[in-house]
Amino acid sequence: MRNILNNNKMMAIIFTLIVISVLLLAYFFIKPEVKEKEIHVFLNGNEHQAISLLSEYVDDGFKMKIGKEEVDTMNLDYKMSSTIDPSVPGKYEVNYEIMYDNQIYHLKRVVEVKDEEAPVLTIEQEVAEKYFCKKTNKMNLSYRAEDNYDGIITDKVKVEVGEKNVILSVSDSSGNETRKEIPLKEMDDQKVAIIELKGKETVYIPLGGTYEEEGATLIDGCGDEKSEEITITGNVDTQTPGEYEVNYQYKDDNQKVTKTRKVIVYEIKKNENIQENSKKIVYLTFDDGPGQYTEELLNILKKHDVKVTFFVTNQFKKYVPLIKRESEEGHVVAVHSLTHNWKIYQSVETYMKDFNDMNEIVAKYTGEKSKLFRFPGGSSNTISRKYAKGVVSSIASHMTKNGYTYFDWNVDSEDAAGASSKQILSNAINGINSRDVSVVLMHDIKKNTIAVIEEFIVYAKENGFTFKTLSPSAQTVHHHINN
Ligand SMILES: [Zn+2]
Repeated sequence: MRNILNNNKMMAIIFTLIVISVLLLAYFFIKPEVKEKEIHVFLNGNEHQAISLLSEYVDDGFKMKIGKEEVDTMNLDYKMSSTIDPSVPGKYEVNYEIMYDNQIYHLKRVVEVKDEEAPVLTIEQEVAEKYFCKKTNKMNLSYRAEDNYDGIITDKVKVEVGEKNVILSVSDSSGNETRKEIPLKEMDDQKVAIIELKGKETVYIPLGGTYEEEGATLIDGCGDEKSEEITITGNVDTQTPGEYEVNYQYKDDNQKVTKTRKVIVYEIKKNENIQENSKKIVYLTFDDGPGQYTEELLNILKKHDVKVTFFVTNQFKKYVPLIKRESEEGHVVAVHSLTHNWKIYQSVETYMKDFNDMNEIVAKYTGEKSKLFRFPGGSSNTISRKYAKGVVSSIASHMTKNGYTYFDWNVDSEDAAGASSKQILSNAINGINSRDVSVVLMHDIKKNTIAVIEEFIVYAKENGFTFKTLSPSAQTVHHHINN
């Protein structure tokens, strides 16, 4: 009996085990049916998002679905983390960790912080001024650029200079660009305008004479002539002796340039010297021309009504026809030499050939041959010794016999020797003060002489000297003949 009982107990246990096994098997077979309700997590909105620099980021969150049913996220256990820094452009991540039913679900979103704001470009003028003449091509243009992220980026501004406008552009580090355009105005660059007087800086006018305005030239900073923009002021009263100023002015927004001409209206002084000096005679003589300064000299002589003696040559052919004007204006034209070459001293014949040829030219322009002459180098020259012994003596005697008169000088301005204008003037003034009859040697081919001749004439006139021209009857001034 006991065994049967035991057997029944065993059966129950086995049965129970079978039932449990069947249940377990059934569970495992049924379970997949339940598991078909899958869990899904989704991000709300796009997986990639962008926000503007310095703006606030709000994440759109996520959803969880179990099968087709959405789970309220309020009831879920999740963690969200992000590294977003809205003040620095770049790409950041937002991560979600969602815990559900002992599982962890991950979600990731990429958020880009973008600088979309272009820099602010400020130009401090409405027109760009371009100083055309400046070699640097510099412009009067002032600007600044500031960016919300990069800060001050004025040094990044690009300036494009067109023909009629200037384009400024600047980009920030994110590539946002701002462009602005302003008109371009080309300015005259007149930093070194120069006024140059036409004619002399000091002009002498005899009392009652006429002042002729010769004007001036203006060269602006660009090298352009703008003489018509000079304003000339000042009065010259030629009826009243004195010193006058004529002013030449050029003015613009940047500068004022002035130049002054001195005009001296003079009268012959009735001082004590005059009686004494009025007996003193000055023969001005000019050798070696006509040349490039002869015309200017003739103008000065005409203005002061001074007559002189020209010992002419044929050296500067372009100017030779001025002999006609010399003669027409009352000057004496005398022979110096056709060639002014020392070889003429080879013989009396070679000298005479040169002399006669020159005298033909004199006759051509004045209507008659001259009876006056001056030896090249003067009668005292020693250069002729190189060519023929005693030739100057022979020529002098031959010429005198034939009715010609030669003149040397007793006042040497030393202009042929290269004296400065100041030296020439003092040589001449000292010379005429030292004697009663002065034959002054000058050369109308010397610039330094022409520069001071007017001052000399005014001095001589103011001090009562009398100008005369040479003639056969004039007191001859001869050097000692050395050959
Ligand atoms: Zn000479």
